Amino acid sequence: MTRPVLQLEKVERCYRQGETALSVLSGGDFALFPGQSVALVAPSGAGKSTLLHIAGLLERPEGGEVYVDGAPTTHMSDDARTALRRNSIGFVYQFHHLLPEFSALENIMLPQMIAGLSRAKARDRSLELLDYLGLAARAKHRPAELSGGEQQRVAIARAVANGPGVLLADEPTGNLDPHTADHVFQALETLVKATGLATLVATHNEGLALRMTRRVTLKEGMIVEI
Ligand code: ADP
Repeated sequence: MTRPVLQLEKVERCYRQGETALSVLSGGDFALFPGQSVALVAPSGAGKSTLLHIAGLLERPEGGEVYVDGAPTTHMSDDARTALRRNSIGFVYQFHHLLPEFSALENIMLPQMIAGLSRAKARDRSLELLDYLGLAARAKHRPAELSGGEQQRVAIARAVANGPGVLLADEPTGNLDPHTADHVFQALETLVKATGLATLVATHNEGLALRMTRRVTLKEGMIVEI
């Protein structure tokens, strides 16, 4: 059987404020397989961002284990976690967070050059990604010269530039009108189909959630299929 690219096992996360403790994850299990797209649909405050941060190795759970490509990560050093995150996990947020001084092309090249790729190779791969996402004519534009939908597509291209197996997205279309959201989502679907990428997307958009392979929600700190 195929191994999950990302697996959460009995993951716990609790926020303490003075005397009170808020248990956001209380034993959550979840597995994401190559080529799957999973929608994470839950009300505000349910713990979606917390779950994505833990899955993306940005935070450590207080209990349980997170496996990336089968490797347990909670007891890894910070450096090892950072290296694994850079190679294996891409992130897209509600706001694009592109670097304003750089072109779309350069924004996609940078993570590849940081990972050690030559400028020429990074450029080729970035142009290919831009072309793939219908943005070839926008390569030289800075983020401020792009529409909201184009900015998000560049952010997706940047997130997958190093060829991660997992893409985590936190409300990636939350700031876009329905038509543009649909266009951005199509870009994501194209990448998933072409590359076998697996993606976990927190979204409030039910229409988009229904187009994904699976849907999960958070109930009393557990991750449940819907
Ligand atoms: P969502 O992304 O679904 O809106 P979050 O993961 O951001 O939910 O938050 C889940 C719950 O945990 C919320 O009630 C939030 O107020 C609380 N929370 C999140 N981060 C912190 C923190 N750093 N300290 C205390 N409480 C937090």
